[in-house]
Amino acid sequence: MKKLAILDRDGTFIWEPEKPEGVDPRETFPLKGAEEVQFLPGAIEGMKKLREAGYTLVMATNQTFLGTEKHPQDVFDAVMNKIKNELAMHGLSFDFIMVCPHGPDDGCTCRKPAIGGLYPYMGTVEEGVDFQNSLMFGDRDTDRQFADNLKVRFVKIETNGPFVIPELF
Ligand SMILES: [Mg+2]
Ligand SMILES: [Zn+2]
Repeated sequence: MKKLAILDRDGTFIWEPEKPEGVDPRETFPLKGAEEVQFLPGAIEGMKKLREAGYTLVMATNQTFLGTEKHPQDVFDAVMNKIKNELAMHGLSFDFIMVCPHGPDDGCTCRKPAIGGLYPYMGTVEEGVDFQNSLMFGDRDTDRQFADNLKVRFVKIETNGPFVIPELF
């Protein structure tokens, strides 16, 4: 069976912009472009260790209002390309990338902590997913709840790092 290391993106393995004070916390403040992509301390190294320990890397991210003026698709795509290229230089890639593009009131089934966004992927894992030995890395309560809903162990990362992996190996 496949054991997964599922990673939240923003604030977990790349730097997340701070929200301006006094704004609606449900509002979104995405990266403005690929030039803002910064891997957090320990992130690349941690992902390498997870790979070496037999984990399959998966990303699960809520990208609120993606595809709107607040969060243009082309900016997101440029950011993701930068991330993928940098990971590839280290021999790393995600087996699956789950992106929820919806807002908090859209009632979708793919916005963390809901786990519906992973179902299509799980359906493709022929050998099955080893939930008992999988991990979810995240910096928010929604990530913790997502891990609970999936019944996998949660690894808490402080927002904007460092990225630390648990003593498992
Ligand atoms: Mg996050
Ligand atoms: Zn969604």
